[in-house]
Amino acid sequence: MPQLAQRIGRAKPSAIMAVAEKAKALKAAGRDIISFSIGVPNFLPGPHVYAAAAEALSKDSGQYGVNRGADALLDAFLAHIARAGLTGYTRAHVATGIGAKHMLYNLAEALLDEGDTIAFAVPYWTTYQDIADIVNAKTLHLHCPASQNYKITPAQLDAALQQKPKVFLFNNPNNPTGMVYSKDEIAALADVLVKYPDTWVISDDIYHRMVFDGLGYHNFVSARPELRDRVIFVDSLSKTYGMPGWRVGFIAGPESVAKAVATLNSNHITNIPEVVTAAAIAALSGPQDVPDQKNREFEAKRDVVMAAMAAIPGVVCPRPQGAFYVFPDISCAFGKKHGDTVIGNDVEFCNVLLEAKGVACVPGSAFGAPNSLRISYTCPSAQLPEGLKRIQEFFAELT
Ligand code: PLP
Repeated sequence: MPQLAQRIGRAKPSAIMAVAEKAKALKAAGRDIISFSIGVPNFLPGPHVYAAAAEALSKDSGQYGVNRGADALLDAFLAHIARAGLTGYTRAHVATGIGAKHMLYNLAEALLDEGDTIAFAVPYWTTYQDIADIVNAKTLHLHCPASQNYKITPAQLDAALQQKPKVFLFNNPNNPTGMVYSKDEIAALADVLVKYPDTWVISDDIYHRMVFDGLGYHNFVSARPELRDRVIFVDSLSKTYGMPGWRVGFIAGPESVAKAVATLNSNHITNIPEVVTAAAIAALSGPQDVPDQKNREFEAKRDVVMAAMAAIPGVVCPRPQGAFYVFPDISCAFGKKHGDTVIGNDVEFCNVLLEAKGVACVPGSAFGAPNSLRISYTCPSAQLPEGLKRIQEFFAELT
């Protein structure tokens, strides 16, 4: 029998989906399950988005679209990033695709040859490692434990860039930690980046509208404009607009990179669908009350989760200021028993928690950080206190 390509051996199914699937199966078997696992925002966009999609359906052109994305969508995206302080970009600097995941994959293909190195922080969003593995890039991990608030320090970045990675992949606000870099922190990292002109910088900022505590969103290009010719900003409608299933992602960066992505699109997907394009324009250009309101709700939920974590002896939980994740260090539980079961690591912790209490969390090892677990708090508000209470009970029952 013929063999699959070697890259398929390097591709792993998503560890996050595995937890979500297990939780789903238990639910289907009649168990009362509260899921803190998957990172879906759990709200729908405003009615203007559906109206725009319906109108586009009624006017179907019957044609292929533009590889880079329709002009009206590029313009809507340019206005959207200008609101975030990213100005001076034109249509030639941007491109669209099937979600940020597809844009990241496109960027890996556009920027990395086999054997090149991509540097990123640990904990990382699982897909970073997987995409690097699929394109056969080497990974350089910047370890950022809870003791440094899961954030990269300038010294750490400097040491990593001295090893000349082709790409530095940054994520702010962060999945899985929810951490947000302040204006000063971004400026300090940007000062390091300017010293290494041969490294591309991908800034995955898909949660940039989800920042709390009045901290504001800051980026490398605003901090050091000379970085503009090698920073690529990645964005998506999935989280901000409650549209993960619509699959719309964007990049803004140097013209050569946007053109490369459009070329890859022309060979992979051709274009994002016309109906989706209309919905995306409506989301980006229409009233912003839904994302604004959701942001306030997430901030309040973050406080509820933090209060619950603070009440568990031994758990260390840096305070996130964005996205919708909390990433407690639960290693105090390792070596203890729940009933007769010894909890040796994060995966066992999450399995026993799910079995015993019906609460699904993602083990930190999915993000390269096996001392922790990820709580995604996008569940209905009414479920949140109950799920947290069960986690507290679980800890209290450990012997
Ligand atoms: N980047 C980060 C940090 C994410 O958390 C996610 C989704 O969870 C993505 C990218 C992918 O988003 P999209 O739905 O646009 O593909």
